[in-house]
Amino acid sequence: MTTTLEVQQIPCLSDNYGYLVHDTVSGLTATIDTPDTGPILQALETKGWRLDFIFNTHHHDDHAGGNLALKEKTGCEIIGPRADAGRIPGIDRQVGEGDSVTLGEWQFTVHDTPGHTRGHIVYHCQQAGVAFVGDTLFALGCGRLFEGTPAQMWDSLQKILSWPDQTLIYCAHEYTQANARFALSVEPGNTDLVARDVQISAARERGEPTVPTTLALERKTNPFLRPHSSNLQQTVGLVGASDVEVFTRTRELKDSF
Ligand code: ZN
Ligand code: FE
Repeated sequence: MTTTLEVQQIPCLSDNYGYLVHDTVSGLTATIDTPDTGPILQALETKGWRLDFIFNTHHHDDHAGGNLALKEKTGCEIIGPRADAGRIPGIDRQVGEGDSVTLGEWQFTVHDTPGHTRGHIVYHCQQAGVAFVGDTLFALGCGRLFEGTPAQMWDSLQKILSWPDQTLIYCAHEYTQANARFALSVEPGNTDLVARDVQISAARERGEPTVPTTLALERKTNPFLRPHSSNLQQTVGLVGASDVEVFTRTRELKDSF
């Protein structure tokens, strides 16, 4: 039997993605966050999987709102951020920077990525080349800063940027088309971005997701990872400024775009 980590993507609510992660050897299954119980239970039934774990990224209702209902129905164990344990419904196990969480043979390393919320965490499985980043990084975007500073978010994004280029990035929302409009406004001279925008529009017209993305593609086209870009620096009026200054201005401009 080949060892596989299977990922099932589940559209939830208006623009969320839930994910089931399944180890084919042990038969263990985790859901990354709990945006909505109905579609998650339906996906479990369709696949014939039992839910063993919830891996929460942060406390927002569209990520942890289904925790208690799913725990009651399945008896699963809830794993979530230590830094925000008080706001994760039903939390059983608290994790933070450098901890690892296992699903059968697969090991996920946890990183603290404060910024969107003060206790946000992400899960990276180096063996499988996949990462679940919640609302920290989006295709062509990054999370809004509800509870953190731009400098914190920039540090959080550096952790993600240290992973291999081919890492598949599973974000929690389908925001890509709107993000592309903003990205083009601040980096109009980026030919990779212009080409990606065309592909995104075509995919959305066919009703296809634009998530997961790869770190390689984000490095080339996501303005929030490109403060070194001279085109971006010119557009935001900060030529020669530090990375965190350019990132901060870019995030501010997106908030009022
Ligand atoms: Zn959120
Ligand atoms: Fe969200």
